[in-house]
Amino acid sequence: MALAPGPRRARARVLDLPLSLLLCVFVATLPSLSSQASVLGERALTPLAPNSISQLTSTPDPVKNVDPANPSSHLSKILIPRPPDTENNTLVRNYIVSTLKGLKWDVEEDSFIDNTPYGAKNFTNVIATKDPTASRRVILAAHFDSKFFATYPQNQFVGATDSAAPCAMMLDLAEALDPLLDQRKERLEDGLEDDEDVADTTLQLVFFDGEEAFKEWTATDSIYGARHLAEKWATTYISPHSKRRMLRPSETQISAIEHLILLDLLGAPQPLIRSSFLDTAWLFDAMASAERRLFEVGAFVYGGDEGTSLTSFFYPRQDGDTNYGYVEDDHVPFMRKGVSVLHIIPRFFPSVWHKLSDDASALDVPTMRRWNLILRVFMSEYLGLQPETHSSRSEDASDQPVAHAELSLI
Ligand SMILES: [Zn+2]
Repeated sequence: MALAPGPRRARARVLDLPLSLLLCVFVATLPSLSSQASVLGERALTPLAPNSISQLTSTPDPVKNVDPANPSSHLSKILIPRPPDTENNTLVRNYIVSTLKGLKWDVEEDSFIDNTPYGAKNFTNVIATKDPTASRRVILAAHFDSKFFATYPQNQFVGATDSAAPCAMMLDLAEALDPLLDQRKERLEDGLEDDEDVADTTLQLVFFDGEEAFKEWTATDSIYGARHLAEKWATTYISPHSKRRMLRPSETQISAIEHLILLDLLGAPQPLIRSSFLDTAWLFDAMASAERRLFEVGAFVYGGDEGTSLTSFFYPRQDGDTNYGYVEDDHVPFMRKGVSVLHIIPRFFPSVWHKLSDDASALDVPTMRRWNLILRVFMSEYLGLQPETHSSRSEDASDQPVAHAELSLI
């Protein structure tokens, strides 16, 4: 098969640079990161009480949206060959758009034309925002296109981990958090919200088109959608709005991004995620902490797994950790413009990477279920959502802010 020569090369390769040169790259990058990283920056997230975590694990059912055996699940609707500028790509895009419009999110389709090794192609990113009037946003993103192959049978490639499953997880998260975001907005409007800064950050989902290279991964044959959107947002100024209390003059769409959390190559069993960037190490720790606390309330008991031990998805961070060599992916154009990035991608790519076998058989339902639960708890804590009423939460002694050093024990 005419596939890339091996993992971590071609589409999302580790830079082929000596370590010393990589460090130079990061030293050069860091000042802009620190100057433009999130408006709120590192902060102590309030961990949800165990009963709130249990509430999040049950509604909606954390399997139904990612169930490959159910032809009407979000995952099954996405799991078809869908290279850019094809009918199938449009079908999947329309499905994502209609699902999020069904939740009454603000949905933008960002269409453009770019040159590829096969000539000019149409691309469309999908950007769904819960509250488009919010001052800031935290972005969860994945690419919805699948890699183009010119000939049969490779052209039947469906990219289950790459990245159908992450897209389905994002739709699951939108469904799970939508009512909680509504409740937070009501609390803010009623003057009941105790952290207005956090409550003015909305959740935005970005589904990138054209992440994959048509031929060999190069600067111009890869991440078409991400390159387009980063450039567009860097030159799009946000118009004043009465609700945008936190905005400074001349705020651009890109500078109002607190963090970009990028999911890729997820859904296969036993992923091992490493913290890639020091400035989001605290977010990495918060996600690992969410996993640990879900385990502690028994949320990972499922199927044959009795939940007696936890093999974490997250590689423990060490004292003295530095920025690691990054994997090229959709985050890079944003990172280069100073956006703070959390990259959730396995350190070792799934063995099916860019093979026809990256299909439903590569996916592990308990693993996807666990990802859904981790994302629900992590994003709820990030956004200050309250799955239980405030009174029931405040009675719980564990419901107090704690330092991330305490949260990060895994
Ligand atoms: Zn790929």
